[in-house]
Amino acid sequence: MTTAPPDLLDRALGAFYGLALGDALGMPTQIMSREDVVRVYGTVTGFEASRSDNPVSAGMPAGAVTDDTDQAVIVARLLVEGGGHIEPLRFADELLSWEREMKDKGSFDLLGPSTKAALDAVAGGTDPKEAGKNGTTNGAAMRVTPVGIAFAADPLPDFLDRVVESCQVTHDTNVGIAGAAAVAAAVSTGVAGGTLDEAFEAAITAAEAGARRGNWIAGADISARIAWARELVAGLDEATALDRIVALIGTSVASQESVPAAFAVLALTGGDPWRSALLAANLGGDSDTIGAIAGAVAGSVHGLSGLPADAVRTLRTVNSLELAPLTAQLLTHR
Ligand SMILES: [Mg+2]
Repeated sequence: MTTAPPDLLDRALGAFYGLALGDALGMPTQIMSREDVVRVYGTVTGFEASRSDNPVSAGMPAGAVTDDTDQAVIVARLLVEGGGHIEPLRFADELLSWEREMKDKGSFDLLGPSTKAALDAVAGGTDPKEAGKNGTTNGAAMRVTPVGIAFAADPLPDFLDRVVESCQVTHDTNVGIAGAAAVAAAVSTGVAGGTLDEAFEAAITAAEAGARRGNWIAGADISARIAWARELVAGLDEATALDRIVALIGTSVASQESVPAAFAVLALTGGDPWRSALLAANLGGDSDTIGAIAGAVAGSVHGLSGLPADAVRTLRTVNSLELAPLTAQLLTHR
């Protein structure tokens, strides 16, 4: 195995730990309304334990990551084991055994709606290549970062083939793929040394092309909404911008809401990883996934050295999360 140049490895690690950072900061506020986040936490300024009344994250300690990080690790591991390719049936098996493990641990943070429906179909005998025909929520976008680490976004058709492999079994739709393509292309551009503006352009271009893949389902255009989201928050103070993201862009599990919401957060902070992850946590809704996406893109641009070292230490300790070996292996595909 050749060793990746230190700056490339730093940006790739920044993407992966940035994902975990946004995921863990958003963990306690997920599925809360923005009003409830303000009422309970005031402003989230760091890692918080989940309150016992959060039906998804109850029982999770401060700094704990959720399905976003867990499933991204599964994607990374399968890419490494498959020589850069993901075998659909194997992926379905891995996701199902992850959910079994979570249930055994007493966790309530289980598979999302598209993934659950698709894997039930696979378990019932549906061809894994057909199971994802209705999956439009953000599960593919939340776990796609390893694809952006492993592969260059150019040439785009080849890159999209890799993105689609990570989507197909659960999110084989124009909407699911467009959301994942946006995130993967932005991360890939950051890992390659691109600026935040260049990551935005890559996301907009890849989402537009990604929307021409997969089974067509009606849904707003993610490429256009990322460009619009950036404009929407331009020049606003943070509180006004957060309210506007909630009211107009939306923070639900719908890819066409949460993916543009993550890019709005990035625009608002100029791509600062810690600020991006924190702002996402303060949104509520699907805050952990919005944070995971924003954190991954911001981390890819600024590198692990641009993330607060004490926060990364917390992520490593609380979750026994050592991402360096997998990340180094992913980079051998570049
Ligand atoms: Mg989650």
